[in-house]
Amino acid sequence: MPAAIDATHDPALTSWVESANDPAADFPIQNLPLCAFEVSHDGHTHNHLGVAIGDSVLDLTSFAESRQLEHLWAQHADPALIECLFMGDWSVLLSEVPAATVRLLAQSLLRADAPAGQPVRRARQKALRGIDGLAFAPPLAVGNYTDFYASVHHATTVGSMFRPDNPLLPNYKWVPIGYHGRASSVVASGTPIRRPLGQTKADDAAEPAFGPCKLLDYELELGLFVGRANALGEPVPLSHAEDHMLGVVLLNDWSARDIQKWEYQPLGPFLAKNFATTISPFLVTMEALAPFRCPAAQRPSGDPRPLPYLADDADRQRGGLDITVEVLLLTEKMRHDGLQPQRLSRGTARDLYWTFAQMLAHHTSNGCNLQVGDLLGSGTISGPTPDSRGCLLELTWDGPGKPRRPVALPTGETRTFLQDGDEVILRGSCERQGFRRIGLGDCRGVVIPAPAGPARN
Ligand code: CA
Repeated sequence: MPAAIDATHDPALTSWVESANDPAADFPIQNLPLCAFEVSHDGHTHNHLGVAIGDSVLDLTSFAESRQLEHLWAQHADPALIECLFMGDWSVLLSEVPAATVRLLAQSLLRADAPAGQPVRRARQKALRGIDGLAFAPPLAVGNYTDFYASVHHATTVGSMFRPDNPLLPNYKWVPIGYHGRASSVVASGTPIRRPLGQTKADDAAEPAFGPCKLLDYELELGLFVGRANALGEPVPLSHAEDHMLGVVLLNDWSARDIQKWEYQPLGPFLAKNFATTISPFLVTMEALAPFRCPAAQRPSGDPRPLPYLADDADRQRGGLDITVEVLLLTEKMRHDGLQPQRLSRGTARDLYWTFAQMLAHHTSNGCNLQVGDLLGSGTISGPTPDSRGCLLELTWDGPGKPRRPVALPTGETRTFLQDGDEVILRGSCERQGFRRIGLGDCRGVVIPAPAGPARN
């Protein structure tokens, strides 16, 4: 069952971190996403754990180290939690302590009406770090990464480019389609993305060539982190899948379309996808998302009923996520001219044909074991309208046989695919009457030139 709405979502709660009380803030006290970042001291770099609050991060690791606060920890925190904070690894911590407990503890430390007195608050302020100055890591070390294809609108538009008469393959509405991606190249927001080299073949060329990707694209997705393992050989039933879901991040599945087009048959994506995947550094927990759960997307009449292992009433009623997601672009020239990023598209995770619980249940249905820190991508989130297409492959497509229609930018520049110096920014947020807005933070990456590397062509 999805997490319940409770007192931690009370919109009247405020924080003594003033920036968190701005109604436009992504990280009010009702959110408190988990993050990890690098801190240098004693000549070494350490991984610290924290929660985002307003424009800052509460550095829980530094806080745990603060001896004068031991009495407070003894009062609030599980000893296992303190031990894990020193280790700097949420995966270890969350194997011992539920994420809900961590969120509750952080909320008790950050509430404006916290019972602890001013001396404690002053000490806490030493553990507050500005988000802008931090070098973030992925919130959890990513063990395995799987990317799904859960947007029927994305699958239909992309399918119609290759099969105008039969865009959606017959398995789509029966089975959540996915492939195993690569965990080693999942990076946190802000990491530059090097244009990949690869093998491509132009339609009119006799032979393929090797060189820099010419059709570099982004994909707007959500990533789900697994928070509880299942044993090898023991599937997670759909009715229990939510218990294994830790929270979500934004995910940019960078894609080399020209490499993809040549290599994908017959085994699917490979080097066109695994050179980089960017995720936002703030893991918004399923508890924080409780007010923003919604019914799973309505299946058009005539669609098949999912097989029993993919059907569950609670999942139909509350398995969806009401998260608005958008893509913005900032070119080098726009940055130079002091312009703001331009929005390219906006969509919603409500439109996904499969819920994350269905994806997780399906992933384990053959006995495959998921582990804490595994990452499941939703697939490109596109909606039914052209302004909600979540990648350039779809956004600049103008119909079969027609030339692509480039995106126009305020500098007079145009884009059909990404150029070096372009920064792609993903954003996501949740709003509902009677609740505080929460956001997912930025997921950013700048494209940098391909390596000089091996001989081209
Ligand atoms: Ca993808």
